[in-house]
Amino acid sequence: MEVRMAEHYGMCFGVRDAVDLALRLTRQGPLTILGDLVHNPDVVAQMDSAGAVRTHAPEEVHTRAVLLTAHGTADRVKARLREEGHQVFDAVCPLVKRVHLAMDKLIAEGRHPVIIGQAGHVEVRGLVGDLKEYTIILEAQDVEQLVGRPKLGVVAQTTQRLEHVQELVATMRRRLPDADIRFVDTVCQPTKDRQEALGRLIDECDAVVVVGGPDSNNSRKLTELARKAGKAAFQVAAAGELQSEWFQGIGIVGVTAGTSTPDRVIDEVREWLETFESVPADREPAALSR
Ligand code: SF4
Repeated sequence: MEVRMAEHYGMCFGVRDAVDLALRLTRQGPLTILGDLVHNPDVVAQMDSAGAVRTHAPEEVHTRAVLLTAHGTADRVKARLREEGHQVFDAVCPLVKRVHLAMDKLIAEGRHPVIIGQAGHVEVRGLVGDLKEYTIILEAQDVEQLVGRPKLGVVAQTTQRLEHVQELVATMRRRLPDADIRFVDTVCQPTKDRQEALGRLIDECDAVVVVGGPDSNNSRKLTELARKAGKAAFQVAAAGELQSEWFQGIGIVGVTAGTSTPDRVIDEVREWLETFESVPADREPAALSR
């Protein structure tokens, strides 16, 4: 089967730096990682075998050194860890930091903070963790929660689909014509690059494989983008999840990967696909989703 790789795919600089820092720290002594360092099972397993302890609860940090994830952490959590005597290392990506700074500025302008993102996602939790009042929206109907707010400051989770974010902001402006709305586009450049590259590749392919962990928001958005374009799209965390029946009758498969997916995992998926012999027979087409 012919495999075409997207122009941009795979691990971003923010994740690479966080993984490098974690590995360096594990060589120096006992380390606890607060939250998933990045959303990829392979990376998490690598941290486990390097001896890092993982927890999602600050009260369960029992080593002196603690590493905070690339997705950002609320200031009050950092302050608490420092007060308890921990040595805090912060792997926050500069592009997540940028969202925190943009939101601080919007709040300083007297705006109600609005985050376009997934409630409960670690990045969004880090963003709202220090706020008394905020609104998280993800779908058009969520905009109703903002009725009556005169001044809004809007940012987006870094890994949202840009087109979706822009549609939501347009909905906000339509539904709240009297509100003073300021939107800062905080979808990060590596996320945009991967989305745009997949958009360019999609028409050349019969199907798309997205290599990314099930908890990786940006991988899910890539899968969503391919399906919206009407392609059969399969998201896998590793080559072992690929299934022959998905590719029967497929001539060209496009491959992309989320920003937390290690190169080795992508290479294994690529190799599997390249050596797979598709049967261009009168078989049922592959299912549109799994
Ligand atoms: S996806 Fe974007 S914000 Fe997140 S770590 Fe990578 S570069 Fe940073």
